[in-house]
Amino acid sequence: MPGEFDIINRYFRFSDQSDSVVLGIGDDAAVMELSKADISRRLVVATDTLLEGVHFPAGMAAKHVASRALMVNVSDFSAMGVRPKWFTLALALPAIDEAWLAEFSAKLKELCENLNLALVGGDTVRGPLSITLTMMGDIKTREAKAAEKVGEANSEVLTRKGAKPGDDVWVTNTLGRGGAALKLLEGELAATTRSASPLSRNEHEQLLAHFYQPECLLDFGDKLAGIASSAIDISDGLLADAGHIAKQSAVAIDIDWNKLPVNSLVKKAGNHEEVSRWVLSHGDEYQLLFTAPEAKRQNVVEIAKQCGVQCTLIGSVEVGSVEEGESVGVSGMDDNVKTIAGYQHF
Ligand code: ADP
Ligand code: MG
Repeated sequence: MPGEFDIINRYFRFSDQSDSVVLGIGDDAAVMELSKADISRRLVVATDTLLEGVHFPAGMAAKHVASRALMVNVSDFSAMGVRPKWFTLALALPAIDEAWLAEFSAKLKELCENLNLALVGGDTVRGPLSITLTMMGDIKTREAKAAEKVGEANSEVLTRKGAKPGDDVWVTNTLGRGGAALKLLEGELAATTRSASPLSRNEHEQLLAHFYQPECLLDFGDKLAGIASSAIDISDGLLADAGHIAKQSAVAIDIDWNKLPVNSLVKKAGNHEEVSRWVLSHGDEYQLLFTAPEAKRQNVVEIAKQCGVQCTLIGSVEVGSVEEGESVGVSGMDDNVKTIAGYQHF
């Protein structure tokens, strides 16, 4: 069975050579040249779909569906180091439920105002609940920045391609909340008693809050653009997403299990096996995984402090060939060092 990425590569990767495509399929967002005559600005676009029952549990409150749909898309822009400006909204609704729509719209509006984002179009159809956002932003090219002498002249966008052997591997904030929250939600919706939970009501709410509204890392991503050599947001799982950087940068990545910033609530919410799975392969984290030269360690620490983001050094980039590209190793786990390829199925 071909995986998601085989399908995309086989059937949809036919515009890579297009003249105006600066960065096509394969990263967190695409970058396009707007005009040959004016190379000073480029368009950045990313899209993500959320399906009820697949990406969020059926019956999740409308305001949470809104915040999750928006922030998951914002996360791809954080990973590119770009601020989004506009988006379109394609909605499939099973029925017209005005109370649901009012709540969904109020949350979306509130977040748009906070993030300075404009909803500029979309589509509304009848069908199983599904939300697709297409987010857009623009950037100045390196050349334009150099000419104006503003900002970091060598920063344009952050991609998955620039990791170099010897670089540090970093992750933002804490890991494991995506998987743990899903377990809580499934338990909650299956009406298991909360008294059976090892977490207090308050801790329960804290874990769910992250699932409902992944935190905004746009300020951090923006600053990271001049510092990191590559970046991705963790949506498929730490190992899978490290694999994407490894493959696209043609390097290997070593991660030290003992350095991973496992969320303290996550440690309480599951047993060792569950916690390991949530942290390494669950996805839904929406934290940034990035690489940066060792010489930039102090810069990373500084911008992390400025933005109130925790950054943890979790491993290193090693030599790897293009053929063996997709290789990520985890050391320090119970069963010692593992090297696994093809994390899609992990
Ligand atoms: P992310 O996890 O960052 O949202 P995905 O894993 O969904 O990215 O997709 C990987 C890459 O493949 C992205 O660059 C995305 O734009 C592209 N892609 C996904 N589905 C399609 C499709 N049907 N047609 C063209 N490109 C696609
Ligand atoms: Mg992404």
